[in-house]
Amino acid sequence: MPEPRPDTQQVIAENREYTLFSWSVQQQTHPIHMTGGRGSYFYDGDGNTWLDFSSQLINLNVGHQHPKVLEAIKAQVDSMCFAGPSFATDVRAELGKKLAEVTGLAKSFFTLGGSEANENAIKIAKLYTGRDKIITRYRSYHGATMGSMSASGDPRRWPVEPGIPGIVRVFDPYMYRPPMGGSASEWEDGCITHIEEVIQLEGPHTIAAMLVEGITGSNGVLIPPDSYYPRLRALLDKYDILLIDDEVMSGFGRTGKWLATQHYGIVPDIVTCAKGLTSGYMPLGAVVVNQKIADYFENHFLAGGLTYSGHPVSLAAAIANLKVYEEEHLFEHTLELGNYLGERLEAMKRKYACVGDVRSIGLFSVLELVRDKKTKEPLAPYNGTSPEMAKLAAHIKSKHVYAFSRFNMLWVCPPLVITKEELDAGLAVYEEALALVDEMIG
Ligand code: PLP
Repeated sequence: MPEPRPDTQQVIAENREYTLFSWSVQQQTHPIHMTGGRGSYFYDGDGNTWLDFSSQLINLNVGHQHPKVLEAIKAQVDSMCFAGPSFATDVRAELGKKLAEVTGLAKSFFTLGGSEANENAIKIAKLYTGRDKIITRYRSYHGATMGSMSASGDPRRWPVEPGIPGIVRVFDPYMYRPPMGGSASEWEDGCITHIEEVIQLEGPHTIAAMLVEGITGSNGVLIPPDSYYPRLRALLDKYDILLIDDEVMSGFGRTGKWLATQHYGIVPDIVTCAKGLTSGYMPLGAVVVNQKIADYFENHFLAGGLTYSGHPVSLAAAIANLKVYEEEHLFEHTLELGNYLGERLEAMKRKYACVGDVRSIGLFSVLELVRDKKTKEPLAPYNGTSPEMAKLAAHIKSKHVYAFSRFNMLWVCPPLVITKEELDAGLAVYEEALALVDEMIG
């Protein structure tokens, strides 16, 4: 148990006085003073222990303070803290080779996070194809830099609109709410055929790539039907359009595989990754490209670079983190525990009136909450909140479970090292909160 810190209120006050917090109206921020952590738990300055049911930002896959990753970071700091991006290093060779192996692609370009990875993937696709447009999906988030924020469909893009030119959006494989009406089975076909129509109307020769989240994360764990990716891959091949697979959130074990798209047996042309690549221990992202794209840049100029591209300490953290996945069989654990979690969530759907849909794959899960199961009226509006969602979040927080909720959705995305007992403890708190919501909606 951590000791309470006498200065915790002052630390919070100074954080708020001297720094800006992301995605917030500053007056409304209530940061927790985090002082440490271990495994599935972290500690606050008041001496509380929190169960991290969201792996921070769905990135801390090996849990807090994993000793093997810490050791690798310390060793790299001692031997060489920095090398510029044009130098060859041991860690660069080792991680590049590993990423080629796990993605089935050829070469990696390193960035500092997911936004920059998507930014560079878009640029690489444009340079390689000589075309300008990028197709993306409405319910998607690709990052907060200008290009990746404009490429996102999520309302987080609204403040920077019109954003970069050339973004064309299509609908998502959101089977619970087919966007054009009709049944889920009709939409299974429609969510591909309407993309073909968009491609034809835009002009296939103008489209460089389609950028998709392997499995959409912060817009609600939208698990596509099994036919989606094989059909999308074939469609894009037909028009010579690249498939960029953003695995920033869904990759590196979150769904029990290296890439979420590996569940569907396809290989993208470009993969972007970050988050679970280092489990957040150091900032790192990567754009991994296929052999054809890599070959193109053998004799064409790669117009891009970052001072911290290939930062040795970040690469060392990633190498150690990927070893932990394999040595501790974390993907197998994720699949096994994920099956159990899926069953538990299905049982909650049967038990609570407010649970309209559950979507779960590995330890990547969401409960979609409604006022009425028949009409599917959301418990909070798109891009908004409601007293019921506020009550749900407040209850979970009061029990020191750290959870991600947004709009009418509540996620379960714990570190992949979580045990069944820890998972059960968090789910028990979720059940209390769902019962409170059921009382409110009567
Ligand atoms: N892509 C996806 C799917 C994400 O979920 C995120 C962040 O949540 C990003 C990109 C942006 O990554 P970063 O915050 O590391 O820049």
